[in-house]
Amino acid sequence: MTRKLYHGSIVEVSFDGAVCQHAGECVRGMPAVFDTEHKPWIDPMRADTPDLAAHLREVVGRCPSGALRIEEREATNE
Ligand code: SF4
Repeated sequence: MTRKLYHGSIVEVSFDGAVCQHAGECVRGMPAVFDTEHKPWIDPMRADTPDLAAHLREVVGRCPSGALRIEEREATNE
């Protein structure tokens, strides 16, 4: 399985389902972003303030398998 990218306004998250250990740290840590009832199940757009983005970085950092990764958005002139 390949790594998929999920877009956000501050940070983006990528996920590789082949290495996920289903530990649930993500869903427990930030259910607004990681919601298995929704499609796509990862929505980094919901972490749209600096505080929420910081929390998202922290939750992704707890992923024990490395399935989740933060992909920082590159600065643009938009
Ligand atoms: S925290 Fe990582 S390993 Fe655990 S369910 Fe989420 S993506 Fe999978």
